[in-house]
Amino acid sequence: MTISIQLQERSNQSCELCGNQGEPLHAYTVPPKQDDISENQVVICEECFTQISVNNYDNYNHWRCLEGSIWSEVPAVQVLSYKILNKLSAQDWARDTIEGVNLDENLVEWAGGEDALEAERVIHKDSYGALLETGDTVVLTQNLNVKGTNYIAPKGTIVRKIKLVHDNAEQIEGKINGDTIVILTKYIKKSV
Ligand SMILES: [Zn+2]
Repeated sequence: MTISIQLQERSNQSCELCGNQGEPLHAYTVPPKQDDISENQVVICEECFTQISVNNYDNYNHWRCLEGSIWSEVPAVQVLSYKILNKLSAQDWARDTIEGVNLDENLVEWAGGEDALEAERVIHKDSYGALLETGDTVVLTQNLNVKGTNYIAPKGTIVRKIKLVHDNAEQIEGKINGDTIVILTKYIKKSV
């Protein structure tokens, strides 16, 4: 990852969150923005980068740096600081910092954008919690009445090439006995 001249100058070649000058420094694009332009990016050190990548902010003391970086003049730095502070809001100092800062509405929206997208995603799981995808093969975990027919699909029936019902996390479609029917995810187990 190379850091543009613009970012090098802006950051003074140090982490814009914690001030660390150790190499390597990363140009981190603050999601959900995707364009790798300096306005969307924050220069961060390896330590900050690693913790952000694994989404683990348990090292509270490290993140006390956000009390300073939240006041940056760079919107992307403010947004990233705000975002991480929110993940630390169980800490008094983090909550106080969030309450003390008055971020522009569009920046607050940017900071919450990734979580909002995540919440909108419909995720299908089988009765054991395994992630389901279109094309998977599943097994019925109990006998099912096939609606509109007299056919009862027995427990253990294999249903191949399922389709996810995109707006309902509890439903998939699959072919049983030649008919495509809706099946509830709580009655299936993913076959591996
Ligand atoms: Zn850092």
